[in-house]
Amino acid sequence: MLGVCPRSVNRTMPWNPIIKSRRDWETIPNLHDYESVRKDFSWEQARAELDGLPDGQGLNIAHEAVVRHATGPLGQQTAIRWLGKSGQVEDYSYARLDDLTNRFATTLQGLGVVKGDRVFVLAGRIPELYITALGTLKHRALFCPLFSAFGPEPIRARLTIGQAKVLVTTESLYQRKVAGIRETLPHLEHVLLIGEERRPTAIPGTQNFHQLLEQHPGIYRIGPTDPEDAALLHFTSGTTGTPKGALHVHGAVVAHHITGKLALDFHPADIFWCTADPGWVTGTSYGIIAPLTNGLTCIVDEADFDAERWYGILQDHRVSVWYTAPTAIRMMMKVGVDLVRKYDLRQLRFLASVGEPLNPEAVVWGEKAFGRPFHDNWWQTETGGIMIANYAAMDVRPGSMGRPLPGIEAGIVKKTESGGVEVLNEPDVQGELALRPGWPSMFRGYWNEPERYKQCFAGGWYLTGDVAKKDADGYFWFVGRADDVIKTSGHLIGPFEVESVLIEHKAVAEAAVIGKPDPVAMEIVKAFVSLKDGHEPSDALRRELLGFARARLGAAVAPKEIAFLPTLPKTRSGKIMRRLLKARELGLPEGDTSTLEG
Ligand code: AMP
Repeated sequence: MLGVCPRSVNRTMPWNPIIKSRRDWETIPNLHDYESVRKDFSWEQARAELDGLPDGQGLNIAHEAVVRHATGPLGQQTAIRWLGKSGQVEDYSYARLDDLTNRFATTLQGLGVVKGDRVFVLAGRIPELYITALGTLKHRALFCPLFSAFGPEPIRARLTIGQAKVLVTTESLYQRKVAGIRETLPHLEHVLLIGEERRPTAIPGTQNFHQLLEQHPGIYRIGPTDPEDAALLHFTSGTTGTPKGALHVHGAVVAHHITGKLALDFHPADIFWCTADPGWVTGTSYGIIAPLTNGLTCIVDEADFDAERWYGILQDHRVSVWYTAPTAIRMMMKVGVDLVRKYDLRQLRFLASVGEPLNPEAVVWGEKAFGRPFHDNWWQTETGGIMIANYAAMDVRPGSMGRPLPGIEAGIVKKTESGGVEVLNEPDVQGELALRPGWPSMFRGYWNEPERYKQCFAGGWYLTGDVAKKDADGYFWFVGRADDVIKTSGHLIGPFEVESVLIEHKAVAEAAVIGKPDPVAMEIVKAFVSLKDGHEPSDALRRELLGFARARLGAAVAPKEIAFLPTLPKTRSGKIMRRLLKARELGLPEGDTSTLEG
C-alpha cells in the first residue's frame, strides 16, 4: 500500500503549502516562500513535526523513523523496497521493519551491548544493513557504517579508532577483509554474519545474524533517549593523520526530517530513491533516516550503476524524488539522452544531487533528459544534513549550490592572524565556507579527538574546509577544497591513509598522494613515490605497487596511477608538498615555493 498521508502533514507549519486537495499536497512544492519561512523558522517548530518518545522520554531516531509509523496509519505501507542484484524485489512495511529492528535490538541486549557501545556494519546495500542501523539506534548504541569497497586497512583503522564492540557483515566480506585482521581488534567481541543459512556459522568467533534474529523477540521498548545522546559515528578523512569519527546525536533527526522536506521536497506519497551507499553519510541521513521519518517508501538498489537498470528502476517503481551524485550524472550523460527517452518517467518530480560540484552542463542535461533540472545541494559528514540547496519552488541557478536552509547561517570568511575570522561580506569574494554552529545535526566531536574538533571552529563559526563564494543574491558557489583531501566518485579520501600503506612496501622510500582531475569521477587518486636504494622504476614495479595498495586499501581508496620520482618536493621543515606536485601535474603555476627545500 502506498501513499497514506502521515500525521505530520496535518500540522500547519509555515513551510507546508496551503493544501486544498489531495493533489495539492502531492504537487505544490514545500518552502514556497523562502524569505518568509527563513525569517520565522525555528528548530523548535521543526521539532514539533516529530512525536518524541512516549511519556516525554526524549527523542530517538528509530522511534521517529519506524515505531511511530508502524503503530499508526502507515503500518502496512512499504518503508523499504529492496531490489536485489539478481532481480529479487522484497518489500518491508513499517510494521515489519519495526518487528525486525526490535529483534535486532533485543539481540544486542542479549549480547550484553549497552547504550553508547559501537556497532559497526560492513555490507553492501542489503536489507540487513537497514535492520542493523535502526535496531542499533533503538538500543541506543552507536551505528557506525563502513563502506563495503574498503580493503582490510581502512576497515582495521576505523574499527580500532571506534573501538568496535560488534561488527555485522557478510560471510564473504568477513573472509576476504576481516578474518586476517581480527586478532588486531581486541575490543571486537561479537561478529554477526549475514549468510543464506539460518544455522550456526562454521567460522570461528562468529554468530549467524538471522538465527539470532529468529531467536530473539520482536518486542522492544526504546529506553529514555536524550536528544544529546550519541547515535551515529561516521568516518571522514582529513589531509593528515588517521580517519576521524564524526559523532552525531539522536536530536539530529530534527534536521534530517526537516531538510528532507525543505531541500528534497518530500511529500507524503513520495517514492524516494537515494543512490548513495550507507557506508557514507548521505546513505544514512537521506538513504535511511529522513525518508522514513517522513513516512515515505524508499527504494534500495543493491546493484552498482548501470544506466539501463537505473532508468528501469525509476520507471517501474514510480520514483518521484531522486537523490543522486554528479559522478553518476556524468556517467548517464556519457550514455546520452536517447536511452532515457525510452522510459516513462512522468512521475519523477524532483531531482537532486550532492557530494561534488555539479557542473552547469549537468543541470541543463537533466532538463533535456528528464524534463527537470538536477537541484544541487551542499553538505558534509560533519554537518549531518543538507545546509545549502537549490529548492523546488525556485529556479535552479546552474553551477551554484543554492542558498542556506532556513535555520542555517552560512558565510564566507578568512582566518585572521589573531586566530579569529573576518567575514567577507562583499559579493563574489572567495574565502572559506563557514557555518554558525547550533543546528541539530551538527557533529558533536571527533571520536576521542577533542583537539581536532576544536580546530574546526574560530570566531564563533564552524569552518568547513571548503572554499566558496557568495553572490549578491545570496547563492553560494563552490570553488574547491582548502585542504588536500581527494574527492573521487563522490567519496572523500585522505591522502595520508593511502601514503601510509604505500610506504609499507619494501621498495618505497616516500609517497605523496594527490587528486588528479578526471572527467567522470571528478578526481582519481594518483600517487608519486620515490624508491629506496637498490630499487629501480619499472612497469613491473608500478603494477606490483598498484596491486599491493589495492589489496590493502580496497578499490575505492587505492591509487589508480603511480608515478616514480627520484625525490619528492619538500618544505625546509621536511613536509612533502602535495600542492606543488598537483600544480605540476596540472601544468599550473607552482605558487609560493619559498619554503621549498634547496
Ligand atoms: P563528505 O563529508 O564525504 O560528505 O564530503 C563533503 C565534501 O564534499 C564537502 O566538504 C565538499 O568538499 C564536497 N561537496 C559536497 N557537496 C558538494 C556540492 N554540492 N558541491 C561541491 N562540493 C560538494
